[in-house]
Amino acid sequence: MTLGIIGAMIEEITPLLELFGDYKGRQVGGNTYYEIQRGEHKIFVAYSKIGKVHSALTSSTMILHFGCEKIIFSGVAGGLSADLKVGDLILGQKLCQYDVDISAFGHPLGFIPESKIFIESDATLNSIAREIAKKQGIKLKEGTIASGDAFIADSQKKQWIIQHFGADAVEMEGASVAVVCDLLAVPFCILRSISDSADGNADVSFDEFLVSSAKRSADFVMMMCEMI
Ligand code: SAH
Repeated sequence: MTLGIIGAMIEEITPLLELFGDYKGRQVGGNTYYEIQRGEHKIFVAYSKIGKVHSALTSSTMILHFGCEKIIFSGVAGGLSADLKVGDLILGQKLCQYDVDISAFGHPLGFIPESKIFIESDATLNSIAREIAKKQGIKLKEGTIASGDAFIADSQKKQWIIQHFGADAVEMEGASVAVVCDLLAVPFCILRSISDSADGNADVSFDEFLVSSAKRSADFVMMMCEMI
C-alpha cells in the first residue's frame, strides 16, 4: 500500500519527517516529495505550500505520479466552532470551498456545476482516527471544514462562513485535496489541530501555536499510519 501525507507548510511535515527519520527526497513541480519505506508499505510526505491550488497539485502528484492509494492531510486550522480551542483536533467529515461564488447565475454559494458543495471524507480512515482518539483518550471533534484562499482573521468573516456553510473550522487546503481525491476515487481524510480562532487575534495566535498544533496533528497521523 502506498500512502500520501500532505501538509501545507514545512512546519506541518517536519515532525513527521523527524519521526520517520529515514527518507529520500524526490522533486516534482517545485515540491519535494519525501519517500519512506516501511516494511512493505511506502509513504510519501510533502508540504504543498499554502492554498487550494498548491494542495490540489500536491495531491494530484501524490496520486497520479507516485501512485498513492490513500491520502491524509495533517495541519493547523482556525477554529469556528465555540467548542474548538487551540490544540484541539478536528476531523473534516465534510469539506467545502467557502470562496466559490457563482450565485449571480442562481447557484448556491460554494457550488460548481457538475461538482458538489460538500465532499465527504473516507468513512474507513475516519473510523481509524475515531478509534485511536478513543483508545488514547484524545478529544477529536468531527465536523465541517471550510477552505478558501484567505487567512481568516476577522470575526465578521468568521460568522459569515459559519452562517452559510455551518463550518466548524476554516483553513486553506482541505477542500481542494477533497475535490482531487473524490474525482480520482482515492480515500482521504483531513485532520487539523486548531492554531487560532479566525478572529481579530488570529495572526498572533497562529504564530504562537503553529509549531505545537502542527505537532499535535502530526503525532496523531503517526498513530494512524500504524493502523492503515
Ligand atoms: N504565517 C504564514 C501564513 C499562514 S496562512 C506565512 O506568513 O507564511 C495559514 C495556514 O494555516 C494555511 O495553510 C491554512 O490552511 C491554515 N490556517 C490556520 N488558521 C487559519 C485561519 N484562521 N484562516 C485560514 N487558514 C488558516
